[in-house]
Amino acid sequence: MALTIGVDVGGTKIAAGVVDETGEILARTRVPTPADPQWAVDAIAQAVRELKEEYPEVAAVGVGAPGFVNRDRSTVIFAPNIDWENEPLKQRIEELTGLETVVENDANCAAWAEFRFGAAAGYEDMVLITVGTGIGGGIVLDGRMHRGRFGVAGEIGHLNMVPDGLDCGCGGKGCWEQYGSGRALRRYGREKAAADPIAGKRMLELNDFVAETIRGIHITEAAAEGDPLALECYAELADWLGRGMADLAALFDPGVFVLGGGVSDSGSLLLDPVAEAFETYLTGGAHRPRAEVLLATMGSAAGIAGAADLARV
Ligand SMILES: [Zn+2]
Repeated sequence: MALTIGVDVGGTKIAAGVVDETGEILARTRVPTPADPQWAVDAIAQAVRELKEEYPEVAAVGVGAPGFVNRDRSTVIFAPNIDWENEPLKQRIEELTGLETVVENDANCAAWAEFRFGAAAGYEDMVLITVGTGIGGGIVLDGRMHRGRFGVAGEIGHLNMVPDGLDCGCGGKGCWEQYGSGRALRRYGREKAAADPIAGKRMLELNDFVAETIRGIHITEAAAEGDPLALECYAELADWLGRGMADLAALFDPGVFVLGGGVSDSGSLLLDPVAEAFETYLTGGAHRPRAEVLLATMGSAAGIAGAADLARV
């Protein structure tokens, strides 16, 4: 099975590509995600048909969906951004395209891409942590995607880190992503700059001196210049990430953690303090081998390449 199609279904766009066995994307297409959940299904099928016309030899389709996907990789149990509930996506895409299809959780696809072709290539056990607006993740154990009994494993952003902590979009309180995500970083910047405008001068300067609307890019720019308060924001973020990773290491003992998502674009600004915090919080840290902490390397291709490759296995 040389060529397969991978589809990355996002809340705003559907991106699809023809992918070979090495993870290389040979052709791509993308369309905006329609607001109607059934039109979204049609748009996926249309993107697949378009690519199949160009590469008639494609053998299967992998669709990465942003939500809960059942264990047999056929049905989207729930995808809030697309308004899918128990959507039989495998069956629908197969009917509309004539190609064998599997459906996967989008974060699993990204994790699989890093495992097969990216930062975690060569490892058998890995955890991907996507640090974006929230925290997403995917877990590969003994060389296999870990899906869990119901297919919904790896929702690591909702580990309960703080009893009765900040409200989370999931309905819970104190979830990890409220403290270790891009949105949390933004909050640290806003709070710290408002509390101490003198120390926060550089971050404030970058946002026309308005603390309430400081964004991640302002914090990152200031931190890259060495601004102490911006670096403190990164340190706080990293501290929370390191705590959670120590818990994940206690559970899964991975060989490597891969940091992806938008915040990981800041490179060593994120990586270095996270690796340090992980070491600090790792149980029995001095007496055990330690997992590597690496940055993701697949970038925006991960969703497509991972979905396509999971259609083969
Ligand atoms: Zn939550």
